[in-house]
Amino acid sequence: MTLIPALCIPARLTAPAPGWVISADVIVVGSGIAGLTAALRLRQRVDRVLLVTKTVLSEGSTMWAQGGIAAALDPADSAQEHLVDTLVAGAGVCDEEAVRVLVSEGPARVRDLATLGAQFDRGSDGTLSLTREGGHGRDRIAHAGGDATGKEISRALIASLATALVAVKDDPGIEVIEHALVVDLLQDNDSRVCGVTLHVIGEGQMDGVGAARARAVVLATGGIGQVYSATTNPSVATGDGVAAALRAGAVIADLEFVQFHPTVLWLGEGSSGQQPLLSEAMRGEGAVLVDRDGVRFMTGIHDLADLAPRDIVAKAIVDRMAQTDADHVYLDARHLGRDFLEKRFPSILARCRELGFDPVTELLPVAPAQHYASGGVRTDVMGRSSLAGLYACGEVSCTGVHGANRLASNSLLEGLVFACRIADDITSRLAGGDLISAEPVVREGDMTLVAARERTAIQRAMTLGAGAVRCAGSLAQAAKDLQSIADASPWLTADPDSWETSNLLHVGQLLTAVAALREETRGGHVRSDFTQRDDAHWLGNTHAVREADGSISTTFHPIAHGHLT
Ligand SMILES: Cc1cc2nc3c(=O)[nH]c(=O)nc-3n(C[C@H](O)[C@H](O)[C@H](O)COP(=O)(O)OP(=O)(O)OC[C@H]3O[C@@H](n4cnc5c(N)ncnc54)[C@H](O)[C@@H]3O)c2cc1C
Repeated sequence: MTLIPALCIPARLTAPAPGWVISADVIVVGSGIAGLTAALRLRQRVDRVLLVTKTVLSEGSTMWAQGGIAAALDPADSAQEHLVDTLVAGAGVCDEEAVRVLVSEGPARVRDLATLGAQFDRGSDGTLSLTREGGHGRDRIAHAGGDATGKEISRALIASLATALVAVKDDPGIEVIEHALVVDLLQDNDSRVCGVTLHVIGEGQMDGVGAARARAVVLATGGIGQVYSATTNPSVATGDGVAAALRAGAVIADLEFVQFHPTVLWLGEGSSGQQPLLSEAMRGEGAVLVDRDGVRFMTGIHDLADLAPRDIVAKAIVDRMAQTDADHVYLDARHLGRDFLEKRFPSILARCRELGFDPVTELLPVAPAQHYASGGVRTDVMGRSSLAGLYACGEVSCTGVHGANRLASNSLLEGLVFACRIADDITSRLAGGDLISAEPVVREGDMTLVAARERTAIQRAMTLGAGAVRCAGSLAQAAKDLQSIADASPWLTADPDSWETSNLLHVGQLLTAVAALREETRGGHVRSDFTQRDDAHWLGNTHAVREADGSISTTFHPIAHGHLT
């Protein structure tokens, strides 16, 4: 065990005492593919489900997913081939059991989605149209509306939830609260999670900070993208679930593995917040990367050229930008032609044109930006975290399926498959009396808050110090900058902005610390001072835990035999 020097994470965020209390059997936090799937399946099986979400039901990364959802649906494909591609992308540190669950249960779960009403694109014979993305050896990506897969999945799930809500209108069986931001987890004397504190922008009794109590809590709060200045993630992706679980003492795994998407539309120096993504599926259909002299540069770097795994493409772009003294490269899709581009990528084309770029006639400027967190709240294959009563699924979790680098289109699938498993596990454990209702206690330790105005400084520190390429010096500088924000006099005005900013700080501090420990380059963790993968020392996973005194301890969990490399 290694203690991270000088890092201290508080027990909870400053917030008013709860002014109201509600209860349910299970609370689901978040309404992306993971949260909606868990809530819908639980609703069929347990009496009272509470779904809370920070803004509106449709907000989250799920809505923005373009490329599609991966599953071995083609008769010529197999779960075994999908497993191999996933393990290879994960650079040796996937949890093979979790990947096996993902690829073997995935096809049935995607068919369930279609049965639920999600309209996937189909060929003239009615079979699903499947395409290929980076790192996949087969065409296995189901998509919808061309490049609007997430939107369609989200629509179908929300429609289904609406039907369920109507069906149970006079029944307190399922309750949905929008504009409800979960601040922290409630725990009993033995650290069992038994609810959440949340802030609701509501009416009447349920307004302001309250407490929701339950026998199980499912975190499905999505990603951490807003920790960085530029990301593909929407504004709700502030790492709230990871930060709350960290403060509560859950194991957080592999946070150093952050995927930077290689082809994010470059909108000029200083652009920040959510940036437009140019899906990998464009390269899957034949678009290629070129530098500012029009030279293709991926062909000599990897057998799969422009379709190499994302970490390899992102690093190649960063290197090419340095060699050519440029802050972006280009994606060339012109040869695909107007008709094809407009039919296959309608949303991307519309967005590019809105911003003044025409993919039919012009090269598109692109640069890597934060896209996906492979690490998160560590769970087993049933979605159970290290804390009794707490589950996690979707991007907030670390089931181990992504290892050091997520294979394209495996994340929607992960949210879907593991949310179903969680619903099944909770159902049987509730029936077996294994999930008990517990009495929350006030957690020992400091409360804290940082001012919302620190958000830009946190994002800047993380982008410069812990971005697509890091080194000991840059990480130490980021840690120092973040610590000085943490050390400033505590902010006293508790509101959603300052809770989110505090969460960004805690996620950033932990990410920086574990990235400094891992002295090698692997997957989404690219170090300029340790440029090679070092299996002799680093073939395994890092786990971090907040101890009772606020210090952070880390342990390294070696993998006996590296997976296919
Ligand atoms: C632009 C883009 C394109 C992508 N394309 C693909 C793709 O083609 N295929 C693929 O597989 N993956 C893709 N991904 C990744 C994928 O979309 C996400 O990993 C996945 O949708 C995450 O689902 P989720 O349910 O875990 O989280 P989300 O969909 O992000 O939902 C999280 C939910 O939690 C809520 N929430 C957050 N914090 C709180 C809080 N404190 N209290 C209450 N609620 C909270 C949010 O409001 C939201 O409802 C893409 C991501 C982006 C951003």
